[in-house]
Amino acid sequence: MKKLGFIGTGIMGKPMAKNLIDAGYPLVVYDINHKALEEMVDYNAKSASSCKEVASQSDIIITMLPNSPEVEKAVLGKDGVIEGVKRSQTLIDMSSIAPLVSQKVAKELEKKGVDMLDAPVSGGQEKAQSGTLAIMVGGKEEVFKQCKAILEAMGKPILVGDIGAGQITKLVNQTIVAINIAAVAEALILGKKAGVNPQRIFEAIKGGLAGSQCLTDKGPRMFQGRFNPGFRIGLHVKDLNNVLATSRELHTAMPLCAQVMEMMQTLMAEGHTDLDHGSLALFYEKLNGISLKEE
Ligand code: NAD
Repeated sequence: MKKLGFIGTGIMGKPMAKNLIDAGYPLVVYDINHKALEEMVDYNAKSASSCKEVASQSDIIITMLPNSPEVEKAVLGKDGVIEGVKRSQTLIDMSSIAPLVSQKVAKELEKKGVDMLDAPVSGGQEKAQSGTLAIMVGGKEEVFKQCKAILEAMGKPILVGDIGAGQITKLVNQTIVAINIAAVAEALILGKKAGVNPQRIFEAIKGGLAGSQCLTDKGPRMFQGRFNPGFRIGLHVKDLNNVLATSRELHTAMPLCAQVMEMMQTLMAEGHTDLDHGSLALFYEKLNGISLKEE
């Protein structure tokens, strides 16, 4: 059995790492937040004192960190993965980060003979726990094949292209989700304003063409006023920042994405950074002076 290293045992990383242990892999873990490690040690993981130490004790290293700067620091920084690796190891970065940063990190690792896959996920904490995440993978096919069983312990991996393609696919995913949630909120507000109960509207349309995972998951949150996360507005803004940076780089017009980004920024300015992204409903409620919540 390959020895695995796992860096970043937060909301997502912890259940993903537990699934790897359940699948029988020996696991060494590291997180700058030592509290996040305690539960993993109780779950039979070994804890390391740096990213470098994780790399020196593993065949394959997995990172699940917030964004590009944290991945750059953990992999390329002082006491980072790159200081502990040897030839023919592999890094799988499962964080959602900028595709250009994935490519930069891969290039630096290549100089040491280390392969990399970018493998961001979709599905949230619940699917991380059940091991059913959608995993979008970029990298060489032979490296993907070597790592497939490991990824399958956490979800369903699909190879979409070369290094960076997984992150591009995740940006596409986050764009569709953001615009879809905004569409659900905008349309339910119209229904409510016209005097029709949003829950009944939801029941009537969820099986038709307007139906979607976003409508099913976020619609009830909106008419119940239930905005605990889930997926935080702050994280979605981070992803849309990466979307818009990439679209500017490629001269791609994304007017809807830019609009929804401004709505989310407004919510952050109002102090809602840590609410679920279904709280886009609050933006429309304020705009229209009406609440979707049933009285
Ligand atoms: P989180 O903040 O809960 O976890 C990140 C962990 O990384 C934390 O425990 C933090 O202490 C640790 N960390 C930060 N910098 C570090 C460093 N330099 N070295 C070691 N550890 C470090 O975040 P999360 O919700 O688990 O998200 C992780 C990634 O997954 C993000 O890119 C996010 O966008 C993506 N994602 C999240 C969800 C979700 O529903 N939460 C869904 C899909 C994808």
